[in-house]
Amino acid sequence: MSEFSLIQQYFFQKKLKNSVNQLGIGDDCALMQVPIGNELAITTDTMVEGTHFFAGADPYQLGYKLLAVNLSDLAAMGAKPVSVTLALTLPEINNTWLKEFSDGFRGLANKFSVDLIGGDTTSGPLTLTVQAFGLLPNNQALKRSFAKIGDLIFVTGSLGDAGLGLKIEQGYSSSFPEQALRRFHQPEPRIDEGLSIRRYANACIDISDGVASDLRHILDQSRVGAKLNWDQLPLSQQVSEYIKVTDDWALPLTAGEDYELCFTVSPTKLNQIDIDCTQIGVIEEQQGLRIQRFGVTQELKVKGFEHFC
Ligand code: ADP
Ligand code: MG
Repeated sequence: MSEFSLIQQYFFQKKLKNSVNQLGIGDDCALMQVPIGNELAITTDTMVEGTHFFAGADPYQLGYKLLAVNLSDLAAMGAKPVSVTLALTLPEINNTWLKEFSDGFRGLANKFSVDLIGGDTTSGPLTLTVQAFGLLPNNQALKRSFAKIGDLIFVTGSLGDAGLGLKIEQGYSSSFPEQALRRFHQPEPRIDEGLSIRRYANACIDISDGVASDLRHILDQSRVGAKLNWDQLPLSQQVSEYIKVTDDWALPLTAGEDYELCFTVSPTKLNQIDIDCTQIGVIEEQQGLRIQRFGVTQELKVKGFEHFC
């Protein structure tokens, strides 16, 4: 199979869904026309076999997750996704693999009306790269650097489920593994939430490396500190159960890949919040990241954090 017919069979889209996309797959470049008054948010993420996923990973889930992690970055800026490009490095042409991979990719792309407008196909060790493009009205992006002292800190969804999914993949046995495994393999980018909170949030980040580590990026860039409250952390029943059994209470704070949004809101704007989310802490003047647990406040060190508890 030639590169051309591979693209034609698995990735070509007859009709582009967004008028922003003037020209898709087929020429040397794709063409986009950014509407006046808008900025283009651009992000890229790569997944390498052996580093980001296990050899032999399910291709449908890979296609889904590859797109999800990129769309999650757009969500964290408050951008509306409109198009993506896809660079594939494949060790071989495996039609079953390509069919499932493209189904997973397209499944999520259709859900958010994202057009695949181009890419590249090469041979080599399995490496998957997406570049994603989103629209934002001028000067409305949710940046990491805008958290203010006194802001309340929120997260969408629950924390630690993807981390538990990874533990399950590695042999931990849970009585209800399905939800955690799904969160690990097929994270849901919080696109609609990002678009909503853009109107009232000060700073935002998506949780790819664990809330402690990701929140720290907001703190560093905004030159502030924060205190979290253990009792407020939104935990699924499975994660609560895991902590009860293992005492590994660092998991919801340090495990990555939840792809929830962590954002800060001024106390004066709390009544504007119109999405499901949970307050987990507060931005403070004192630098660093602390957590209050069972009446004791302790510093959260991100590096070597596993060893603190
Ligand atoms: P060129 O040699 O000019 O870079 P290519 O032969 O690499 O062109 O690609 C031909 C067309 O197919 C281009 O429009 C390119 O964007 C698109 N394309 C190539 N690989 C992919 C892919 N994996 N997914 C989507 N589009 C692709
Ligand atoms: Mg090319």
